[in-house]
Amino acid sequence: MTPAMEPAADNAVIAARDLAVLWHPCTQMKDHETLPPVPIRRGTGVWLEDFEGRRYLDAISSWWVNLFGHANPRINAALRDQLDALEHVMLAGFTHLPALELAERLVRIAPPGLSRAFYADNGSSAVEVALKMSFHYWRNLGREKKTKFITLTNSYHGETLGALAVGDLPLYKNTYHPLLMTSLPVPSPDCFLREPGQSWAEHSMQRFDAMREALDRHHEEVCAVIVEPLVQCAGSMRMYDPVYLARLRTACDEYGVHLIADEIAVGFGRTGTMFACEQAGIGPDFLCLSKGLTGGYLPLSVVLTREEVYHAFYDDYPRMTAFLHSHSYTGNPLACRAALATLDIFEQDRVIERNTALAGALAAAGARFADHPHVAEVRQRGMILAIEMVKDRRTREPYPWQERRGRRVHRHALERGVLLRPLGDVIYFMPPYVITPEEIEYLAQVAWDGLVAATQD
Ligand code: PMP
Repeated sequence: MTPAMEPAADNAVIAARDLAVLWHPCTQMKDHETLPPVPIRRGTGVWLEDFEGRRYLDAISSWWVNLFGHANPRINAALRDQLDALEHVMLAGFTHLPALELAERLVRIAPPGLSRAFYADNGSSAVEVALKMSFHYWRNLGREKKTKFITLTNSYHGETLGALAVGDLPLYKNTYHPLLMTSLPVPSPDCFLREPGQSWAEHSMQRFDAMREALDRHHEEVCAVIVEPLVQCAGSMRMYDPVYLARLRTACDEYGVHLIADEIAVGFGRTGTMFACEQAGIGPDFLCLSKGLTGGYLPLSVVLTREEVYHAFYDDYPRMTAFLHSHSYTGNPLACRAALATLDIFEQDRVIERNTALAGALAAAGARFADHPHVAEVRQRGMILAIEMVKDRRTREPYPWQERRGRRVHRHALERGVLLRPLGDVIYFMPPYVITPEEIEYLAQVAWDGLVAATQD
C-alpha cells in the first residue's frame, strides 16, 4: 500500500497533515485556521465522501469540470483500458488514436468552420495558445501592427500572465498589473446591469455600440476580441443575450479581427446547447475548450481553429512561420480517452435533450429565491443558476465584501452536506448532469437555509 492509500484516522488528522505541507489554490491559507480543508476519500456520482463517511453533494461540479459524476463507470472503464495500452507519448513527431479520434469528433460537433485541433493541458494554456496563434497569424501575414486584444469588462480567462492580461477581475488581476500586457476592455453586455423594463436582448444590443466603437477605432492594432460566450462564469455568473455574439461575429469579419470564444467553462452543454456559440448561430475563429472536455477526470484543453489560420503557418521550415508552442503533456492519451468516453455518454444518453428537463428542475428550485429581501436577481442559462445576494434588494447595494457573506453560505452548506462555493456574494448551482430532481430540491433547500442564515444581521 502506498502512503497515500493508508487508511487515516479521521478528517482532522488528514487536515493537519495537509496544512503542514500543502498550499491550496485560490485560498488565503489563514482561513483554514477556522475552516480546515475537507479531506475527500472517494466520490460516487454527485456525491463526495470524507474520511468519516460524511457526504457532500458536489453542486458546483468541482470547479465546473465534472459532467457525469465522480467515478463514472464508463469513463473509468475507458481509462483502465487505455492504461494498459499507452499512458503517454509526446505529440511532436508522434501521434496516437485517442488524440486523433478526439480531434475528429470535436471537429464534427463544433460550430462550422473549425477544422483543426491544437491540444494543451489546462484552460489557461488554451487561452495562451489562442492569443499567440491569433497574434502570430497576423504576423505571418505581415500585419505586424496587430498586437492587442479587445476584452470584456468582468471577464475571466485564466491565471497565467497572458490569460490574466485579457481578463478583467481586479481580485485576481490587480496585484500583477506591472507584469501584464495592456488589453482594451469594453463594457460587458452583462444583463444584470440592464435598465428596469429593458429586455436582455435590448440591453445586450445597446452595449454592442461600445464594442463597435472600439473595433472602429482600434482594428488596425487589434488581433482578436476574446469573450466568454453567454455567461461570464468567474465574473459572478453574469449573463448576456446571444444577439451580442451574433453582432460581434459580423463586426469582427467587417473589421478584419479574430473572434476567440473561451468556452472553457460554458462548453459541453452547460448553457443548454453543446456549445454556447450555437445559440447565436456563429462560429468563432478560435474555440477554447477544457474543464468538461474530459468529464472532469484529467487536465486537457484544446483550441479549435479554421483551416485558413492553419495554412498561414504552413510553409518551408526556414521561413520560420511555424507555431512552436508546446506543453510536455500536450494531447495526453489518458486525458483524450476520458474525453472520448465523455463524448460517448453525450451521444448514447442524449444528454443535451435530457438536460432540458433538469434545467427545468433547476429553474423550479431556484424560483423560491426570487422574492427574498436580500436577493437582487435569480438568473439562469441552461445548467447554470445564480442567485445574486445583496444588502438592499431595491437599490441593489451589495454587502461590504469584507463581510464575506458568501463564505457563510459555503460554511452552512458544508455542515448540511452540500458543496457550494459562492463567487463573492453570488450563490450558484452548476451541478453534474447526473443530478436528480430530488437532489436539486435538497440542494436548493440547503442554499435557502444558508442564504437566510447569512443575511440575518
Ligand atoms: N477561461 C474560463 C472562462 C474559465 O472559467 C477558466 C477557469 N475557471 C479558465 C479560462 C482557466 O482554466 P484553468 O483553470 O483550467 O486554467
